[in-house]
Amino acid sequence: MISLHNGEILGTTIAELIIPAERVAHVQVKNNLEHALLVLTKTGYTAVPVLDPKYQLHGLISTTQVMDSILGLERIEFERLENMIVEEVMNKDIPRLNLNNNLEKGLELLVNHPFICVENEEQVFEGILTRRSILERLNTQIQKLNK
Ligand code: AMP
Repeated sequence: MISLHNGEILGTTIAELIIPAERVAHVQVKNNLEHALLVLTKTGYTAVPVLDPKYQLHGLISTTQVMDSILGLERIEFERLENMIVEEVMNKDIPRLNLNNNLEKGLELLVNHPFICVENEEQVFEGILTRRSILERLNTQIQKLNK
């Protein structure tokens, strides 16, 4: 049985585990869908955060949402990509973490999402907490315990 003492994984802060904002691929609220699809395709990520020029977090946009928004009755209407903007299509109802939240809260949200956006007290985007980063930390701890 693995015991998760404080000071080990549950003692880790969210700030220690996040991918910082400057390394997170994102799009802006006013970008058109062509740009969003380009970012999603080039990075290979399924969804990316949507920010405004002040770096405040507005939502998430995924490839599925972009494609769904240009689905016509008989074909995919690619010509609409240029004229629609991210704000019209993004998901605004997203889980969020604050830098001050503990890791347990992060774990709880990551059960249903591959990553969670993290913001500071001023709602400025600080980065993302991913399942991968938690699993990596947990794996490191288990390896240490097994030595
Ligand atoms: P991963 O845990 O690395 O497989 O990432 C899970 C999801 O988190 C990806 O599909 C992306 O939606 C998001 N993600 C991870 N890293 C980044 C990044 N550097 N920039 C933007 N999104 C990311």
